[in-house]
Amino acid sequence: MARKIVLTMLVAVLVFAPAVALLGSAVVNPAATGTCLPGGDSLIVGPVPDSLTTTTSDGHQITLDRTQLTHAATIITTGGRVDGVGRDGVVIALMAALTESRLRMLANTGAYPESGDYPNDGDGSDHDSLGLFQMRPAAGWGTVAQLMDPTYQAAAFYGGPTGPNYPSPRGLLDITGWRDMDPGEAAQAVEVSAHPDRYRAFQPVAETILTTLTTNSQPPTQVPEADRVVFPLPAGTWNKTSDFGPRIHPITGEVSFHTGTDYAAPDATPILAVADGRVVSTDTTPVYGGLIVIEHTIDALPVATAYAHIWPDDIHVSPGQIVAAGQHIGDVGSAGQSTGPHLHLEVRPGGPDQPPVDPVPWFNGHRPDDLDNPTATPGTPCAPSTAPPPDPPARTVDLGGSSRTGVEWDGP
Ligand SMILES: [Zn+2]
Repeated sequence: MARKIVLTMLVAVLVFAPAVALLGSAVVNPAATGTCLPGGDSLIVGPVPDSLTTTTSDGHQITLDRTQLTHAATIITTGGRVDGVGRDGVVIALMAALTESRLRMLANTGAYPESGDYPNDGDGSDHDSLGLFQMRPAAGWGTVAQLMDPTYQAAAFYGGPTGPNYPSPRGLLDITGWRDMDPGEAAQAVEVSAHPDRYRAFQPVAETILTTLTTNSQPPTQVPEADRVVFPLPAGTWNKTSDFGPRIHPITGEVSFHTGTDYAAPDATPILAVADGRVVSTDTTPVYGGLIVIEHTIDALPVATAYAHIWPDDIHVSPGQIVAAGQHIGDVGSAGQSTGPHLHLEVRPGGPDQPPVDPVPWFNGHRPDDLDNPTATPGTPCAPSTAPPPDPPARTVDLGGSSRTGVEWDGP
């Protein structure tokens, strides 16, 4: 009995030691914080107030009701899910929607009678324009059904490679140099309107809305359910070089427990979030190098994924940030205990403070492409598993070594 307890404790130390490394440092890399969120704050929305009164730059008082503020929350949340938007981009989007519709989802039953069948806040009559951003089906922004969806309109406004209309009509991210433009001009460039001054008047209103809705926001206790799992590296860029489990440590020569799977890939290869989720931490540690930890809800259960050996300047997300499946979160590096560029991937069912499992069978149970197949493509929706059996047993079973991670690289 005593021996069993000792063994149990030893195993517990082995599996939790890396968890301590994962969670031990709360220091946020300042370089990473500024990368995607220029304002340095999150785009997580807290409770939406019943009303908000503020003033435009030309002195007009404006009071927004809960419906309008809920649409603002949709614009903010959608911006937080699109790589490269940040608070600056969200302010521009809010300025555009305030100008175009006063943050109302406007149907246009004169041009499109069926638009009145969708939830709306009233009827507009400007040409064939619809919704928050007054987007026109005839200009290629989307169908009536698509444009009567506030989330779709927000995503279309932000645009970029993941936007629904890429590359045309252009969204904000498709406007070259938008960050260097006056926000009113940037909004005008997307809306292709003749009146940039109209947008500028709403800049203080947009900033007040953003600050109000994201101040005192508490991260949700449960991360929204992810609807798909994707591979964390682009197809054809990687080779699996080290399995999960006990192994001979490639640097120390001791037997140790490898808490993840290693994929060799060229330095600066994009690392992609494996599912929708929320960034728990972005740390730099001597062993892991730059480390991103993301928590997800998959099949109604919490699970954390971790991505290690990123160069500190190549972390593109911040703690608290909501990320989407396939989102570019960092780049492959060789920071920490590593002998060459690779991604060390960990999967921890239950959350970041729980023991890791072998990522290969976990992944194969959640998507059709497997983690042993270099042609596996990112972005493939989750489908019934056609997974091969889990990896063969680890090379040794001696758990006597110390626990280290992410140091092996024997690929080409
Ligand atoms: Zn590793």
